[in-house]
Amino acid sequence: MKKNSIFTALGIIAFIFSSCSVNKKNLYEEIPKIDAHVHIRTADTAIIQAAMAENFKFFTICTRASSQEYIDEQLYFAKKIHEQFPQALSYATTFSMESFEDPGWQEEVIKKLKKDFEEGAIAMKVWKDIGMTFRDSLGNFIMIDDPRFDPIFDFVTDNNKTVVAHIGEPRNCWLPLDSMTVNNDKAYYKEHPQYHMYLHPDYPSYEDQIASRDNLLAKHPDLRLVGAHLGSLEWSVDELARRLDLYPNFAVDMAARVCHFQVQDRQKVRNFIIKYQDRLLYGTDFIINEENDLQERKTRMKDEWQADWKYFSTDEEMSSPNVNDPFKGLDLDEKVLRNIYYENAMKWYPGFL
Ligand SMILES: [Zn+2]
Repeated sequence: MKKNSIFTALGIIAFIFSSCSVNKKNLYEEIPKIDAHVHIRTADTAIIQAAMAENFKFFTICTRASSQEYIDEQLYFAKKIHEQFPQALSYATTFSMESFEDPGWQEEVIKKLKKDFEEGAIAMKVWKDIGMTFRDSLGNFIMIDDPRFDPIFDFVTDNNKTVVAHIGEPRNCWLPLDSMTVNNDKAYYKEHPQYHMYLHPDYPSYEDQIASRDNLLAKHPDLRLVGAHLGSLEWSVDELARRLDLYPNFAVDMAARVCHFQVQDRQKVRNFIIKYQDRLLYGTDFIINEENDLQERKTRMKDEWQADWKYFSTDEEMSSPNVNDPFKGLDLDEKVLRNIYYENAMKWYPGFL
């Protein structure tokens, strides 16, 4: 009798353990998820429908400040899909740097942003072309903490909207090819030497880029800002933690940077994600254009989502073409997964339906 009850107890324990792992696998389908960093530039609804089938919503981001025409084109697609699937897609607008030095540029930008917010945009993006491309009439690079942007950031703050900031690049961009930590960066900068800052010491440094963004956060403590791509501090969870401690209105998305977690110390990354589980947003940086083969994009999208889920939710051995060594999944619990996959995007982008 006693023996039997021990077996029953062991059976129950075994059942609890096995049902835990089963539940976590099922969780991918069950929990609502948001890919908080995509660029949907097509009116074709096949992609959003594929996302909904995986229980994903999209946050699509309009980007690049070089032309209002290009911004309007992106806004057209975002609005069109948002109108049809308001619960499944929200979007960020951006502004153009055309006529930046003209008097009245700020007023024009604010007028346009007001309209975009009224029409449904819930955030404003700033991109790396500020800090890396635009120069003023004296030839100086225009950085994101330039006081001429202050009225715009004040307007966003006053309207309870969020800034998505992709400022700078991965630190690898300033390193020689053979010192880069992930293979996708190596391949990209090899192919695009014009963007490889190691070859362009006359451009602002990595430290200049990070300092300008930090300075923006310090100047606008009430501004809610999501740093895209792990806030360009992808190479060190310690450096990122330091900024998250310093700036309470700062969060980051992981778009296209999950591989940088995979090359750092697993236990350290795991502790970091658990500690800052309210400040990290899952995202991929998928770009879907009208001319893309949507079937192929859908397959790639699903594969990446599922590989990332496996990394965050299990403790399995994994490999990725982006990193040289195999690595182990982080085995995060359900609460952390729900935060990074859903709750944080809802919280950091108020207005998400
Ligand atoms: Zn992006």
